[in-house]
Amino acid sequence: MRVLTVDHPLVAHKLTVLREESTPSPTFRQLTEELVTLLAYEATREISVEPVEVVTPVSPATGTHLTSPRPMVVPILRAGLGMLEGMTRLLPTAEVGFLGLVRNEETLEAVTYANRLPDDLSGRQCYVLDPMLATGGTLIAAIEYLFDRGARNVTCITLLCAPEGLAKVEAAIGDRADVTIVTASIDERLNERGYIVPGLGDAGDRLYGVV
Ligand code: URA
Repeated sequence: MRVLTVDHPLVAHKLTVLREESTPSPTFRQLTEELVTLLAYEATREISVEPVEVVTPVSPATGTHLTSPRPMVVPILRAGLGMLEGMTRLLPTAEVGFLGLVRNEETLEAVTYANRLPDDLSGRQCYVLDPMLATGGTLIAAIEYLFDRGARNVTCITLLCAPEGLAKVEAAIGDRADVTIVTASIDERLNERGYIVPGLGDAGDRLYGVV
């Protein structure tokens, strides 16, 4: 498993505004989109492409196209939805599937409550969107779900990671599958309630308000 922390002043700036508790939801949503577009630029560095011939107004040229099948973007409901627009802005031809995984707040285990994905993901590159890699349970469940359906490789884009969660994903997935985590920051730790410290609070609530 590879972990890439995107080191860029714009990423650091936007993340700092997201962390600030007085940042209101509309600003939080806007900045999340912008931040995801920056992360997506790094996350798609190894997207599958092939050469293609085109004719410019001046001469023939060899260029590059994304290969088929198209990449699959999978936001994890509900907070991952806040990352979708920022991702599809960069990758407008991607297909979008949805996975509903919720953390049981007592056991901290991930439970699947919805899915809208093809049964066959053979050969697909998948981009999972989930803002917070906290205990790691949700991401492990999502990654296993996609590989069980034939995905070729999975790149997970997160805003923040806890070291404990990263270690858990690494232990569960290891080198068994081609997985990359792209994040804006690896924070200090998890607290006793499973929140990332210093983190940014509950990402779903910050995006959409308290349910
Ligand atoms: N989920 C969140 O939204 N925030 C955390 O800090 C941990 C999990």
